[in-house]
Amino acid sequence: MEALQKLPAITDWFPGVERPIVISGPCSAESEEQVLETCMRLKATGKVDMLRAGIWKPRTRPGNFEGIGSIGLKWLQKAKVATGLPTTVEVATAAHVQEALKHGVDVLWIGARTTVNPFSVQEVADALKGVDIPVLIKNPINADLDLWIGAIERIQQAGVTQIGGIHRGFAKYGEKQYRNAPQWQLPIELKRRFPNLPMICDPSHICGNRHMLFEVAQEALDLNFDGVMIESHIDPDNAWSDAKQQVVPERVGEMVNDLVVRNTAPQNGSLSGLSAFRSQIDKYDDEIMALFAQRMEVAQKIGQYKKENNISILQTKRWEEILEKAFSKGRKVGLSDEFIEKYLKAVHQESIDQQNKIMNK
Ligand code: PEP
Ligand code: MN
Repeated sequence: MEALQKLPAITDWFPGVERPIVISGPCSAESEEQVLETCMRLKATGKVDMLRAGIWKPRTRPGNFEGIGSIGLKWLQKAKVATGLPTTVEVATAAHVQEALKHGVDVLWIGARTTVNPFSVQEVADALKGVDIPVLIKNPINADLDLWIGAIERIQQAGVTQIGGIHRGFAKYGEKQYRNAPQWQLPIELKRRFPNLPMICDPSHICGNRHMLFEVAQEALDLNFDGVMIESHIDPDNAWSDAKQQVVPERVGEMVNDLVVRNTAPQNGSLSGLSAFRSQIDKYDDEIMALFAQRMEVAQKIGQYKKENNISILQTKRWEEILEKAFSKGRKVGLSDEFIEKYLKAVHQESIDQQNKIMNK
């Protein structure tokens, strides 16, 4: 896509903003006071470039707070006037687009649950024809790069010229550390294909907690992301949605203050290409490590079970089966028997050691 190779930088969307762009505000608008106070306190940090608030909330399960609706746009509009900062909201339907435009919203974003559905993305794209407002597109819930690119293309084809991506992590069964696994290799690959596409990281929805936000935000900047979107609330524990991951506005200011903004790598093609591959390798290694940890947790449970049922640790027949299966699977994906054997022996030994600890403690 020609046009997607020539996108303007996000720092050109508004005068005077610099990398990293910081977007913050509540997960959901709840009351006029909450929106205004959050936004005023964000403004006071001097570190925030754009205000966010969820107006219509797509919730995974029914019965949760589904957003305050259009009235919240009036509060956000007041916050925009009071702070002088631009605003952004999530839109999922043509009606949302109309409402947001009517209330002077400056940037629209498409949420993860919308990006997965081409019908919805097309509806939003059609509503945007003839309206050139910047649009940020979150990755789909599932790790499908083409689906993300498809949504970006639909918005671009509607004539929108200021487009960016938001990386908010991916739902992954069995994932424990993150609410949505970052799987950094996906945004890295997106950036490799569209080097000019502005990229924002959303540590709040990746982490699902407060204590990892800073670490993930720093990691994103180290991968040359252009900015971050962090949810904030005047009373995070009592937020009507995503309470666990929201922080007070002042904490956003502190985190942004502590973020180290490194110079982006020399834009020499081969060098930046190599560093993109290296980042991919690092991220796969991180994921392998996390999987090992999950595997060892199961080994410990087995240890407990064997202890309770008085079964010996080494089950020779089971070990032979594992080895045979792994050889045949490994051959199919081009891994040598030698590698598989070394790898499995090391893993098996570690499992035995972990079981041993449980059984003999
Ligand atoms: C949000 O930003 O509040 C939100 C709903 O995020 P996501 O679409 O990433 O789940
Ligand atoms: Mn949220």
